[in-house]
Amino acid sequence: MPKQDVIPDEILREALEANGQRFTEQRAAVYRFLASTDKHPTADEVFLAVRSEVPVISLATVYKSLETLVGCGLAVKLTYGDGSARYDGRTDPHHHARCVQCSRIFDLPGHLPREDLSALEQGSDGFQVTGYRLELTGFCRECAEPSSSEEREST
Ligand code: ZN
Ligand code: MN
Repeated sequence: MPKQDVIPDEILREALEANGQRFTEQRAAVYRFLASTDKHPTADEVFLAVRSEVPVISLATVYKSLETLVGCGLAVKLTYGDGSARYDGRTDPHHHARCVQCSRIFDLPGHLPREDLSALEQGSDGFQVTGYRLELTGFCRECAEPSSSEEREST
């Protein structure tokens, strides 16, 4: 279920070249997969998905392609305190909810007006705010469901 338009190869080529990067089939495949999913995959997950389309691609190439796309503003990297990272093909400002059980990331449809953060900025002692990142944490619908008894029955 694409949540935004996957830009065609020619536009992708222009966006890469505008940033001094070459268009390659590997980069295009990584981009197409990332832009067509709302699952915020890890590099490993991108590798597994793209490998079926580009069998010769390596995990190292996937990593580098992802970083190139991020550097060109074609993807967003979400980093976490444990050192893990996920990638988002959606580049417009939006917020996320993260399930602490299964680690899945969900896009939030809501938007918090910038002005609502002014209460936080007060008393930040001269800190110059240039942006903010908001993430809700909790349990996704599947993890919140008391399904353990069902699982026991099926095994
Ligand atoms: Zn979950
Ligand atoms: Mn997202």
